[in-house]
Amino acid sequence: MLEDITWLSSDEMNGRHFLSLEAKKAAKFIADEWKASGFVPLPSFDSMYIPIGIPNAAPNVAAMWEGKEKSYVIVMAHYDHLKPKREGEDRIFNGADDNASGTAALIAIAKAIHTLKPHLTSSIVLLATSAEEAGLVGATHFANEECLPMHRIKAVINLDMISRGDPNTIFLEGSPDAPSISVALQNANKEVGLTIVRDKHPDWMYRGDQRPFWQAGIPSVFLSVEDHEDYHMVTDEVDRIIPELAAKTAEITLHAAIELAGPRVP
Ligand SMILES: [Zn+2]
Repeated sequence: MLEDITWLSSDEMNGRHFLSLEAKKAAKFIADEWKASGFVPLPSFDSMYIPIGIPNAAPNVAAMWEGKEKSYVIVMAHYDHLKPKREGEDRIFNGADDNASGTAALIAIAKAIHTLKPHLTSSIVLLATSAEEAGLVGATHFANEECLPMHRIKAVINLDMISRGDPNTIFLEGSPDAPSISVALQNANKEVGLTIVRDKHPDWMYRGDQRPFWQAGIPSVFLSVEDHEDYHMVTDEVDRIIPELAAKTAEITLHAAIELAGPRVP
C-alpha cells in the first residue's frame, strides 16, 4: 500500500484534481490493478470507467468480484484531491492521507480477494470515486443514475483518510443505521486489534461519499481518522502517514466485506 500511496501522492500526480490529466492517470492505474486481480466491470457496463456527468472529468472507477446473486456490498474511496495553488514554493496538494490512503486500500483489497478467491452470495463492488472534493459529485452521480440498482445494495463502507493520528485508532461513523456492518467490522477486528471509536462525529455522515447511499436508506458507514494539521494542506505528504494504520483498516474492511457478502448459496 505504501508504494501505491507514494506514487498517487507524488508531485508528479499534481494533486489529482478531477479535471486533470493526472486524475485520469490515477483512474487507469486503479482499473489496471483491479483487472489484474480478476475484477470485472459492473453489470450493464462494458468498462470499469463510469462517467460522472461532467465533460472532461475523470470518471468513477468501479468493478466487482462476482457473487451468486444480484446483490452488492460496496467498498468505496475517493481518489481525487485538489488543484495546485497558483503560487508558493510548494504548490501541490499531495493528498497522501486524503485520500491516496483509501485508494491504496481498494487496490490492496482487490489483491487480497484475488488471493483468497472467496465464493460469495453478493458481489463485492470496489468503487473509486471522482470529484469528491468538488462536493461528493462522483458518488452522488453514481447513486442518482443507479449505476447499480439501489435496492440491491446491501452495505456501503467508505474509506476516506485512514493513515494519520493515533497509530492504532480508526473512527467509525454510521453504525446506528448499519448494525450489520458494525458487527462485521468488529468481528474482523478480533484478529487485527484496532481501537475502533464509534459514532463520535455523526455529522461526518453528511460530509463523506457514503452520504447519497446513506440518505437513500442503504446501510452505510464511514471509516476515517480525526482531522489533522495537514488536512487540505500541501503538507499532506506520504512521509507523514502511518501505513500500518491504513493496512489494518484495509484488512478489517476486507474481512467485513467478505462476511457481509456471505458464503456461496448451496
Ligand atoms: Zn477525502
